[in-house]
Amino acid sequence: MPKKRKNRGRAKGAKGKSAVVQCDGCGAWVPEDKAIVVTRWYSPVDPQLARELEKKGAIIMRYPVTKRYCISCAIYLGIVKVRAREERKRRPITT
Ligand SMILES: [Zn+2]
Repeated sequence: MPKKRKNRGRAKGAKGKSAVVQCDGCGAWVPEDKAIVVTRWYSPVDPQLARELEKKGAIIMRYPVTKRYCISCAIYLGIVKVRAREERKRRPITT
């Protein structure tokens, strides 16, 4: 059977099952090797105020916030994009 993607859209490999995680956008249950994981740095201080305080030498704490999304939510949020046949083969550049 022809495959759309080499890894069938996930990183499962030859193992039978993988745990499921809940999407942070819609709450759908997705296999953890399929979910799109994004880590963003979050600061409780208002960004404009933080910039001014940092200019004066203050240290503002930033906390990593990791979110896991299902494919639909990741596309909706613009984290991943629908790619053309040839584009799909290329490994996406993750930031
Ligand atoms: Zn979702």
